[in-house]
Amino acid sequence: MNIRIMSKTNSSIIKFNPDKCVACRICELWCSYINTGKFSLNEANLKINYPYKDLPQISINEKCKECGQCVEMCLYGALIFEEGS
Ligand code: SF4
Ligand code: SF4
Repeated sequence: MNIRIMSKTNSSIIKFNPDKCVACRICELWCSYINTGKFSLNEANLKINYPYKDLPQISINEKCKECGQCVEMCLYGALIFEEGS
Protein backbone atom coordinates (compact mmCIF):
# COMPACT_ATOMS: atom_id res chain seq x y z
CA MET A 1 0.00 0.00 0.00
CA ASN A 2 1.34 3.38 -0.98
CA ILE A 3 -0.44 6.17 0.88
CA ARG A 4 0.58 9.76 0.55
CA ILE A 5 -0.91 12.59 2.57
CA MET A 6 -2.23 15.10 0.06
CA SER A 7 -3.98 17.71 2.14
CA LYS A 8 -3.73 18.57 5.79
CA THR A 9 -5.14 21.20 8.12
CA ASN A 10 -5.66 21.22 11.84
CA SER A 11 -8.90 19.34 11.39
CA SER A 12 -8.54 16.75 8.63
CA ILE A 13 -6.29 14.76 6.33
CA ILE A 14 -7.00 13.34 2.88
CA LYS A 15 -4.83 10.39 1.91
CA PHE A 16 -4.45 8.86 -1.53
CA ASN A 17 -3.56 5.27 -2.38
CA PRO A 18 -2.38 5.14 -6.03
CA ASP A 19 -2.33 1.35 -5.99
CA LYS A 20 -6.14 1.33 -5.72
CA CYS A 21 -6.96 4.28 -7.99
CA VAL A 22 -8.31 3.35 -11.45
CA ALA A 23 -8.37 6.97 -12.63
CA CYS A 24 -12.14 6.94 -13.15
CA ARG A 25 -12.18 10.65 -12.14
CA ILE A 26 -15.57 10.38 -10.45
CA CYS A 27 -14.06 12.14 -7.43
CA GLU A 28 -13.21 15.13 -9.62
CA LEU A 29 -16.67 15.33 -11.16
CA TRP A 30 -18.37 15.08 -7.78
CA CYS A 31 -16.14 17.74 -6.24
CA SER A 32 -17.04 20.04 -9.11
CA TYR A 33 -20.74 19.32 -8.77
CA ILE A 34 -20.99 19.93 -5.03
CA ASN A 35 -18.98 23.14 -5.28
CA THR A 36 -20.30 24.66 -8.53
CA GLY A 37 -23.41 22.69 -9.51
CA LYS A 38 -21.65 21.57 -12.70
CA PHE A 39 -19.97 18.29 -13.64
CA SER A 40 -16.75 19.82 -14.96
CA LEU A 41 -13.27 18.39 -14.57
CA ASN A 42 -11.93 21.93 -14.88
CA GLU A 43 -13.89 23.05 -11.80
CA ALA A 44 -12.71 20.29 -9.45
CA ASN A 45 -10.50 21.07 -6.48
CA LEU A 46 -8.62 17.81 -6.91
CA LYS A 47 -6.98 16.40 -10.01
CA ILE A 48 -6.11 12.81 -10.86
CA ASN A 49 -3.35 12.41 -13.40
CA TYR A 50 -2.58 9.04 -14.95
CA PRO A 51 0.90 9.06 -16.49
CA TYR A 52 1.62 6.43 -19.12
CA LYS A 53 3.15 3.33 -17.46
CA ASP A 54 3.08 4.95 -14.03
CA LEU A 55 0.80 5.07 -11.00
CA PRO A 56 -1.91 7.72 -10.80
CA GLN A 57 -1.04 10.96 -9.09
CA ILE A 58 -3.27 13.39 -7.21
CA SER A 59 -3.13 17.07 -6.51
CA ILE A 60 -5.50 19.14 -4.39
CA ASN A 61 -5.72 22.90 -4.73
CA GLU A 62 -6.11 25.57 -2.08
CA LYS A 63 -9.86 25.85 -2.68
CA CYS A 64 -10.46 22.42 -1.16
CA LYS A 65 -12.86 22.66 1.79
CA GLU A 66 -11.84 19.21 3.05
CA CYS A 67 -15.48 18.23 3.06
CA GLY A 68 -14.60 14.60 2.33
CA GLN A 69 -17.22 14.20 -0.41
CA CYS A 70 -14.68 12.99 -2.97
CA VAL A 71 -13.69 10.26 -0.55
CA GLU A 72 -17.31 9.18 -0.21
CA MET A 73 -17.65 8.88 -3.99
CA CYS A 74 -14.51 6.79 -4.56
CA LEU A 75 -15.74 3.23 -5.08
CA TYR A 76 -12.23 1.77 -5.05
CA GLY A 77 -10.98 2.87 -1.65
CA ALA A 78 -8.23 5.00 -3.11
CA LEU A 79 -9.13 8.05 -1.02
CA ILE A 80 -9.14 8.03 2.76
CA PHE A 81 -10.48 10.83 4.93
CA GLU A 82 -9.28 11.20 8.47
CA GLU A 83 -10.74 13.80 10.76
CA GLY A 84 -8.39 15.17 13.33
CA SER A 85 -9.12 15.99 16.91
S1 SF4 B 1 -9.42 8.38 -6.41
FE1 SF4 B 1 -11.15 6.97 -6.61
S2 SF4 B 1 -12.81 8.17 -7.58
FE2 SF4 B 1 -10.87 9.29 -7.87
S3 SF4 B 1 -10.10 8.65 -9.87
FE3 SF4 B 1 -9.13 7.29 -8.33
S4 SF4 B 1 -10.49 5.51 -8.19
FE4 SF4 B 1 -11.66 7.14 -9.24
S1 SF4 C 1 -12.54 17.31 0.11
FE1 SF4 C 1 -14.33 18.31 -0.84
S2 SF4 C 1 -13.56 20.23 -1.72
FE2 SF4 C 1 -11.79 18.96 -1.26
S3 SF4 C 1 -11.28 17.90 -3.15
FE3 SF4 C 1 -12.67 16.54 -1.98
S4 SF4 C 1 -14.77 17.03 -2.63
FE4 SF4 C 1 -13.40 18.68 -3.32
